[in-house]
Amino acid sequence: MNVYELIKKKRDGFELSAAEIGFLIEGFVDGRIPDYQLTAFLMAVYFKGMSLRECVDLTMAMAHSGDQIDLSAIHGRKVDKHSTGGVGDKTTLVLAPLIAASGGIVAKMTGRELGHTGGTVDKLESIPGFQVELAQDKFVAIVNDLHVSLIAQTASLAPADKMIYALRNVTATVDSIPLIASSIMSKKLAAGSDGIVLDVKTGCGAFTPSYAEALEVAKTMVNIGEGAGRKVVALITGMDQPLGNAVGNAIEVKESIDTLRGHGPADLVKLVTELGCDMLLISGVVAGRKEAESIIAQNLANDRGLNRLADLIVAQGGDAAVLDNTDLLPQPTRKIEVRSPSSGYVSGINALEVGMAAKVLGAGRKTKDDGVDHTVGIYLEKKIGDPVNTGDPLAVFYTDGDETKIEAARDKFLAAYAFDSNKVAPPKLLYARVTKDGVEEY
Ligand code: URA
Repeated sequence: MNVYELIKKKRDGFELSAAEIGFLIEGFVDGRIPDYQLTAFLMAVYFKGMSLRECVDLTMAMAHSGDQIDLSAIHGRKVDKHSTGGVGDKTTLVLAPLIAASGGIVAKMTGRELGHTGGTVDKLESIPGFQVELAQDKFVAIVNDLHVSLIAQTASLAPADKMIYALRNVTATVDSIPLIASSIMSKKLAAGSDGIVLDVKTGCGAFTPSYAEALEVAKTMVNIGEGAGRKVVALITGMDQPLGNAVGNAIEVKESIDTLRGHGPADLVKLVTELGCDMLLISGVVAGRKEAESIIAQNLANDRGLNRLADLIVAQGGDAAVLDNTDLLPQPTRKIEVRSPSSGYVSGINALEVGMAAKVLGAGRKTKDDGVDHTVGIYLEKKIGDPVNTGDPLAVFYTDGDETKIEAARDKFLAAYAFDSNKVAPPKLLYARVTKDGVEEY
């Protein structure tokens, strides 16, 4: 096979065979195909798309480029969840222990920050002592004991995806439906769970801002996963403003703890409940959605989810005292109020810009080799629909005290807010549910 001919074939809009896709992916991972040729191929996919069959073949080629995690030593049906990435999205921190306390089994490998969205691993590492890198036998033992463990994806999980994402990130080819769907599903399939609940975001803070694109990604991922013998459900949910009030690392852990204590922000609780219901249904541990909803509500109210998080933190080497005293989480040098320049109602909060402002404060990475500052972040005091007077606090910045960063973040943050003199309804959170049988729109 000839790489030039394959690039040309895709550029001209033709379908590639499984063997041709496999040749490209294996060759790139082996170092026989250089970055510039794979990049040209990715750009051709960006413009010409891929058929579902090609997406499945690309996903499989990437999933098989490294280790396939064998979870057969864990008894029972394992369920995973994945978000396509949002700002303030801490649902995994809440859902993993909550679902384990509700009868499900969550053996989850999770990632670091990607683009403008924070990663669960970065958030977990703000819990003092918490180990995200565990040997597989320890991971399996913890899941068999507690029905939950959260660890970092290893470099050997779908390495082709990691290498290809690095190219996409610098060549304007991230926002391509077949590339997003195959990237996510290659990692999910290699990670070995029997069922997967996908949270596909739509709105200004999402990788797929338009509903139509999010729907296409969701359908593609459900088809890929079901084709590979897994049970997959996707919810399309709104990312028109950050989820909850906290954006950052330690600050998001605190909000997750509050949520497991039954005091979470309404949008986060609603999303956790919807995703959690599908996780319990896929796990086969409830008879229907009503029963799943009631178990989740009970376990948020009676601290069973919180207690499971305590067990998980201890099992992974962390200090569970943070649950009773969140001041033990890494604390910022300074907290600074950002005040509203206008009166009226908050009519928009550009989630992407808020994510970028948190990054400026140090909550994210400038280059892939940077660390993150766990202490910094943004706490939103006002969300869409809230009334506001000039001078009211819109947010509190958690900062390291660096004035240059604070000023740059303030400019970005204030530019993210829009105001209206008329009352504004909060944005839609739940758009649709996609299964192999079709799409249910809300
Ligand atoms: N998340 C991923 O893992 N990959 C993408 O391409 C986009 C979001």
